[in-house]
Order: sequence, then C-alpha cells, then structure tokens
Amino acid sequence: MHTFEFVRPADAAAAVATAVQAKTAQQGTDVRFVAGGTTLLDLMKLNVETPARVIDINRLPLDKIEATPDGGLNIGATVRNSDLAHHPTVQRDYAVLSQAILAGASAQLRNMATTAGNLLQRTRCVYFRDTAMPCNKREPGTGCPAITGTNRTLAVLGTSEQCIATNPSDMCMAMAALEATIHLQGAKGRRVIPIGDFHLLPGSTPNRETVLEPGDLITHVTLPPPIAGSRQFYLKLRDPASYEFALASTAVVITVGGGRVRRARVALDGVGTKPWRSPEAEAALVGQAVNQANFRQAAEAALRHAKPPSENGFKIEVAKRCLRHALQTATA
Ligand SMILES: Cc1cc2nc3c(=O)[nH]c(=O)nc-3n(C[C@H](O)[C@H](O)[C@H](O)COP(=O)(O)OP(=O)(O)OC[C@H]3O[C@@H](n4cnc5c(N)ncnc54)[C@H](O)[C@@H]3O)c2cc1C
Ligand code: SF4
Repeated sequence: MHTFEFVRPADAAAAVATAVQAKTAQQGTDVRFVAGGTTLLDLMKLNVETPARVIDINRLPLDKIEATPDGGLNIGATVRNSDLAHHPTVQRDYAVLSQAILAGASAQLRNMATTAGNLLQRTRCVYFRDTAMPCNKREPGTGCPAITGTNRTLAVLGTSEQCIATNPSDMCMAMAALEATIHLQGAKGRRVIPIGDFHLLPGSTPNRETVLEPGDLITHVTLPPPIAGSRQFYLKLRDPASYEFALASTAVVITVGGGRVRRARVALDGVGTKPWRSPEAEAALVGQAVNQANFRQAAEAALRHAKPPSENGFKIEVAKRCLRHALQTATA
C-alpha cells in the first residue's frame, strides 16, 4: 500500500518551502498540496498519484472572497465551490460562474471542493485512471489507447497525436469567459497568470498540464470588474441530467446594444483539452445583429477546427447547438 507523510504548514511560505523540494509540479510529482481532496485522494487510491508528501493547505488564510480596489473580485484558493457559487456578488455580477459551479458534481462534493483544486482537477479519461493501461499523460511514451479506443467523452479541440483528454472543469470554463487571473506564490516570489495561459495544450507532453513549477502555490484568483450591461448564461449538456461531466457546455458573457453584439466572451467545456475560450466565435459575433443566422455562424466558427476521433464526432453538433441555445437565451 502507498504510504505518505502528511504535512500541515503554519503559513504559505512554509508550504512553498516544502513543495519546492519536488522534482516536478506535474504528473508523477512526489509532493502534492491537498485542499478538498476530491480529486487527489481518488487518484491516490487508484495509484495514479503517489506523492511521498501531502501538504494540507486548509489552515492557511486563503478562504476569503473580497472585493478588489478596482471593483473586481478576489477569490481565495481554498474558498469552497459552494461558498463561491452562493456568494451574493458572484450571483449578481458573475452569474455564469455561479451557474457553472452549481452544474458540476454534487452538493456534498461542492462543499469540499476548492477554487484552486477545481483549477487543477484531472481528466476523466478512463485510461488515465487505470494503471493497467498505457497512457501518455500518466506515463510519457507509453501511448494513447483512447485515440482508437473509448473516447466518446474526450476532446475534439486542441488534441494532439499524444493525447485527446478533455479538461473536465465547469468552473474553469466560466472563469475563461470572465477572463480570470490566477495568482501564485512560488520559490521565486509571486506570479500572475491569465487563465488562458495557465493550462497547456497536450502537444507532445500531455503529462505537463499547467505552467506550475515545483513549489507554486495558488493563493487566489481574481475576476475583473463586471462589464456593465453584460448578459451571462451557462448551459451544460450531459448524459444523465445531473451529477455527470459535460458532453458539451458553454459559458457566454455578451453585451448587446442597438440590436447588435458589442462585446462577446465565449468559452466551451467538454470538447477541449484545456478550458476552451473561442476567439473565433467572439470575432464572428461582435458587430453582428442579434439573430439565429449569426449565432449559427459563431457556432460554426467555434468548432471549425474540431478533429473527432472514432466515437465522439456527435459532440461537434452537440457543442454547436449548445452554444447557439446559450446565445439565444442570453440575448432574449
Ligand atoms: C464524483 C465526482 C463528480 C464530479 N463532477 C464534476 C463536474 O460535473 N464538473 C466539474 O467541474 N467537476 C466535477 N468533479 C470534480 C471536482 O470539481 C474536483 O474534484 C474539485 O473541484 C477539486 O477540488 P479539491 O479542492 O477537492 O482538489 P484536491 O483534490 O484537494 O486537489 C486537486 C489538485 O489541485 C492541487 N491543489 C489544490 N490546491 C492547490 C493550491 N492552492 N495550489 C496548488 N495546487 C493545489 C492538488 O495538489 C491536486 O493536484 C467531480 C468530482 C467527483 C469526485
Ligand atoms: S487521451 Fe490522454 S489521458 Fe487519455 S489515454 Fe490518451 S494520453 Fe492518456
């Protein structure tokens, strides 16, 4: 059985000082932070993650939701998903984030799951979670059986010949549409990373999922001030109506004036290898009249570069319809 040391640091600096001793912050690391534990402990039970040291960050003062001086929102790394989704400011100004979180997992899981843990949740690809199978993400160079195997739920955008795993996070997608920024404390000081640059495409190194380096602790996430007059909507399509990851989902933040789209932010989940913001759909929308034909154009643009493997071509049409319906609802 896998054994590990459990560490409870007094402050963030001590947490970073312990974590920096790791060889990597990516798959296969020997040191992991634990927050809610709803991803990490599952993977440890499956021997997909085998850290020698687990650093509990739950006592660190990272659990606040506060206004920023510029009118945005500061969300601590250990804020529970439930507290974030039900926060009055989030419900009023960042509704798409609240809707996305509440569409994920179960109430019990959301009560444990944290902001940072959700940012770093792992793919649900069945081969990744089964150590009897090869998987380039888990063991680089062993192959990707999903490309010709069970891939119904996997990605059609951002894939590579090494990996087609979907990023499963509903929260991340909403944060992509809201242009969140991730704040890190690491061995070399603090860093600030736009969410679009935080997750990496699989390319030839699917084991490397984010820009995190050994020691990096996510301290908080900031959201920019809400866009006056914007309308927001989140829609998730999945097999059972609850407690399931998205086949396709979308978050839209859109501003309309004089019957035309003035500003649009569009993100998709269930189809991309990272939280998928679509500049193609946004460009297709801005300046155009609010109507079905233009929403159709935007959906076509969002999925234009989709490459389905053997089982999941249906997702392309599902994602297009999801986006069209979300745009229609947001602008109604
Ligand atoms: C049955 C089930 C159903 C689910 N359904 C959905 C769903 O429909 N939609 C969805 O989006 N999600 C779903 N989830 C995933 C869930 O949202 C995540 O497990 C959860 O958000 C992870 O948060 P956590 O705090 O528990 O992370 P943990 O398990 O504590 O940590 C996850 C990872 O983040 C790292 N980490 C945590 N905090 C920090 C930090 N501050 N700095 C650096 N690294 C850190 C850990 O080292 C670990 O690698 C589901 C999970 C389960 C078990
Ligand atoms: S899709 Fe990625 S995670 Fe799944 S088997 Fe292939 S390499 Fe592993």
